[in-house]
Parts: sequence; structure tokens; C-alpha cells
Amino acid sequence: MVAGCNAAPTNATATLNTTNSTMTFPLQRTEAEWRQLLTPEQYHVLREAGTERAFTGKYWNTKEPGVYRCAACGEILFKSDDKFDSGCGWPSFSEIAAQGKVIAREDNSLGMTRTEVLCAHCGSHLGHVFDDGPAPTGQRYCINSASIDFGVDTNVTLWKTGGKK
Ligand SMILES: [Zn+2]
Repeated sequence: MVAGCNAAPTNATATLNTTNSTMTFPLQRTEAEWRQLLTPEQYHVLREAGTERAFTGKYWNTKEPGVYRCAACGEILFKSDDKFDSGCGWPSFSEIAAQGKVIAREDNSLGMTRTEVLCAHCGSHLGHVFDDGPAPTGQRYCINSASIDFGVDTNVTLWKTGGKK
């Protein structure tokens, strides 16, 4: 059972950017500012490209309808309509909320070639995208719970700037 089978195939996909060193983002903060805004776990994942352990994040099994915002800047990145149970222990989405919300870049760390996904607004690390997801997109965005904030609707009052609760 895969969620999103009947969704219109809008096919919002991350734009692959191969010019890592010159990437700039609309929201610029110093690392000191990020440290102030984020919890230590969020900072490690979002700013140091860390990965939370499988099945430990708060959203891997979340099924409520709503939206997932970047935990660093608040941009809506993913929707519950596109979330599916991949069994991998991290929140998994078959597509992004809208074209251009997420940027992909090649990641050759840990001896693997993977595609890292970043928030297009603030450049924070979200997770990776793989091409073994469900139809129609075939994409599996494997995202750290620490990188996103869930809200039951799009009302911004449900979400607080920064990550500290
Ligand atoms: Zn962001």
C-alpha cells in the first residue's frame, strides 16, 4: 500500500545542481546564528549533513495530513499526500511540495555516490533522494525528521521560527 497513487503526477523534482562551491541561497545566516536557532541535533543534521538513526526520528511513522516545513527556515518542502511508508526508518516522500523547493547535489561522502537534497531557501541539509520510489515519480526523498517541522495545516502559527521547542 503506497500513499499517493491517485495523486496528479505533477512531478515536482529537485533540480540537480552540480556547481557546489558557488551555490548561494536566498536566506543567508552565519553558522553561529544557526547554532543559536537550532537544537544541537538539528544543527548537526541541517548544517553538518548529519543523519539521524533509522526509526529514531519523530516523523518516520507520521501519517496525519499536513505539511512539512524546513526546520531551519520554515519553507514548506513536503506534503503528507506524498509521504509513503518506505520501511527505511526515515520520513519518505515521493515528491517535493512544489518545484524549486529542494535542490539536489551529488554527494560522494562515505564512499558512496548519492544525491543529497538541500532546502533551496536556506541551503540546509535534508537527506538524500533515491530513484526507487513509487510511481508515478519513482523518487524516494529520504529525509531526516530533524530537518523538518510538521504542521497540521499551512497556518504559520503552528510553526515557530527556529527549532527550539
Ligand atoms: Zn530551509
